[in-house]
Formats: sequence, structure tokens, C-alpha cells
Amino acid sequence: MTFRDLGLSSDLLRAVAEQGYTQPTPIQRQAIPTILLGQDIFASAQTGTGKTAGFTLPLLQRLGNTSPSQGHRTPRALILTPTRELAAQVSDSAKTYGKYLSLRVAVIYGGIGIGQQIHSLRRGVDLLVATPGRLLDHLEQKTVDLSQIEILVLDESDRMLDMGFIHDIRKILAKLPSSRQTLMFSATYSKTIQQLANTLLKSPSLIEVACRNTASEQVEQVVHPVARERKRELLAYMISFHNWKQVLVFTRTKYGANRLAEQLAKDGLKTAAIHGNKTQAARTRALNDFKQGKVRVLVATDVASRGLDIEQLPHVVNFELPNVPEDYVHRIGRTGRAGQPGRAVSLVCKDEYSLLDNIEQLLNQTLVKKVISGYEPISPVELELEQPNRKRSKPRRSNRAKPQIPSEPKPTQKSTSVGRRIQKKLERQN
Ligand code: AMP
Repeated sequence: MTFRDLGLSSDLLRAVAEQGYTQPTPIQRQAIPTILLGQDIFASAQTGTGKTAGFTLPLLQRLGNTSPSQGHRTPRALILTPTRELAAQVSDSAKTYGKYLSLRVAVIYGGIGIGQQIHSLRRGVDLLVATPGRLLDHLEQKTVDLSQIEILVLDESDRMLDMGFIHDIRKILAKLPSSRQTLMFSATYSKTIQQLANTLLKSPSLIEVACRNTASEQVEQVVHPVARERKRELLAYMISFHNWKQVLVFTRTKYGANRLAEQLAKDGLKTAAIHGNKTQAARTRALNDFKQGKVRVLVATDVASRGLDIEQLPHVVNFELPNVPEDYVHRIGRTGRAGQPGRAVSLVCKDEYSLLDNIEQLLNQTLVKKVISGYEPISPVELELEQPNRKRSKPRRSNRAKPQIPSEPKPTQKSTSVGRRIQKKLERQN
């Protein structure tokens, strides 16, 4: 199947070809024709699946098909994203794919001055990409008008809820026309997501593609048990010993990210940190330096790393395991992209074993553990981790989507509630 078969216009096909995309990805094959028909969708897909083009291309086509109102151009499509980086990336993608259309794309997010954003909104916008907090600021200052929105996209809805944006989102929704097309994307599934989907979507088509960790057999996952105080030393050793050129390292806290970045820099490794307390300019600079190879190690918190699009990232290190097991799936989804092999390494100390248990239960998989000689964990509990018959607690029943969703089920068109349909699907898998 080609992009042409999906019903995209020649202007979009040209832009897609220039990106070097020859074939649509599974989510694109399912989402593009459905969105072009004007239907609502609930898509469970993660970063790395090609989801951004999956909703941006048909959205641009729908906007391009109808001419903007004469005079001032108020936004006709709104894409909400959880983080500034993701907003910037989605708007860059929209500009790239829409380069042969005369549509105006603007992006608004916090952490930078509001003046330039007001200016571009005044000039007129067709497609607006925004983070919820800053969009609310604009709504309160009456510098944005959302009364003409025809298409709403909630990208990474689960993450927006995890980040506490639900109240902001509800306030934004209240400003939108009720007759509109709504596209909801979420990597995981929970009761809150179900409730939001039920209130927002009208007879949605359900689209699911395999999550990164199962789809990507490319990602080799390994756990190195190690004492907490020796983690930094082990990491520096591994980077140098294996001569890793580009490695993304996750810490749990902003403070931890800063401290680790400073220590690694002292070890002679070119390192930058990216987290919520950094200015937008510093975050963008760190990311660009990392992409260009000027920085070898990028230390990030989960929030800051969300949606980062770094092609062919070979190594991801969990310096600390995340508290939320789903974050592990998001983290390792940074590597093993586009068919390239990737390696996800977790440095785990004894206080983190319960977190590791939760992750393994979510993955339904026991991860390979390898003690690195010279960095053996010292306590007997840590050594016990190496025993193959370690007693495991009973798998937790989760109402979140397990990362074992079959690869390409057909989108369903029935108008039962999204919750019931997904719930049934999960029950069948269990
Ligand atoms: P996303 O899941 O939207 O974050 O996309 C992940 C990466 O896949 C991005 O770098 C896109 O440029 C790339 N991509 C999207 N669609 C395709 C395609 N059909 N073929 C090859 N690469 C693609």
C-alpha cells in the first residue's frame, strides 16, 4: 500500500516523498482514510509509530479542502500536546508536510515570551498546536479564538492526564464548538482515559497498533544490578568502554538529572540535562546539540523527554527506574526506531526491585539481569536477583492496556462506548 492509495492530495504526497517515506506505517494506513472521512478516532499508539504524520496529513488535507473565511483567519484545527518539545515537533511536522499548501501553522507553549505568540495569532492561523497551560493563558487574555475549531487532536492524552492537565483541558473544551471532529491518541489506557474518550468522541473508530516494546524486537533490554552509589561510575565506564556515541539517560528527578549531568561532565563526557526547570531555550539547545552529536550524553526526566523525536538513538539508560511502570515503556520507545537495533539498559539498585517487579508484570516478561564484574551489588538481596527461580508475586491485574495489543486489527466502526470496546479487547487478551 502506498500513500497515494490512502487518498492524500498530490501536494501532500509530494511533501511526504521528500521526507523519504515510501510506505505508510500501520497507524497511518488505518488512521489516514478514517480521518479523511471526518470520523472521530481513538488511537492507541506510541511515539515512534508514525502517529504524528498519521493525524497531521489527513488534518492538513481537510483544512486545505475548505477555504479559510475571508478576512481574519481564526484557527480551524487545534492539536493539544503535553510538552513544549512535542508541541514544537508536531508543529514542525505540520509545516513540513503542509509546505505545498497555503495554510498557516502556529505553535504556542509556555516557558517563552507570550508576545510573539500573540503576534502570530493576530496575523491569522489555520492550524494551532499548543500545550494546555499556555493555551489557557491566551484564552484568559482573549488573544485566541477557538470558536471556529473544526478538528481537535489530543496527542498523548494519557500523558496530559498524568501531568494533571485535565482541568485545563476541560476549560479548553468548553470553548470549542461541539460539532467538530475529535482525534484522541493515547499510549496507555485507564479509567480516566476511558471517561474522557466517552465524553469527547462520537462513534469513534478504534485504532490500535502494537506498542513499541512488543513491536520492536529490535530493543534489547538488560538490567544491571548495582549498588546505588556506584551507578554513576558504572554508567561512565559503560559509555567509555562500549564507546557509545549518543546515549539518552533517564533520572527520576530534575535535581538528579542536574547532579548526574555535572558528575558525568567531570568524568570528561560531554553531557547536557533536559528537564522542566530549564528554560525553553536551554532545552532546545541541549536537544539540538545532542542530535548533532555535540553532546554525547543527554540526561532527561520523563516529562522532558516525552515525545522527543531523535532518529536512530542506539542507547537508552534508565539510571533510575520510573515510579510508573508505563514510563519504562515510553522510555525504551526512544530507541530501536525505524527498524534500527537499540539497547535499553537499566541500572537497578535494591530499593528499586519492587519497581522492577511492576515493570516486568506490565511487560509480562522477565528482563535479563547481568552483573557487571567489578560492580557487583553487595547485599544478599541484590545477589538474590540473579537467582533464576526468584519468587515472583502474582501478576497484577491492570486496567491499563498491556503492551501486547495485536499488530493490525481492523478499526471497528460500531458506536458502543470506547470504554466497553477496549475493556472487552483487554479481557480477551487476558
Ligand atoms: P512519530 O511516531 O510521529 O513520533 O514518528 C516517528 C518517526 O517516524 C519520525 O521521525 C517520522 O519522521 C518517521 N516517520 C513517520 N512516518 C513514516 C513513514 N511512513 N516512513 C518512514 N518514517 C516515517
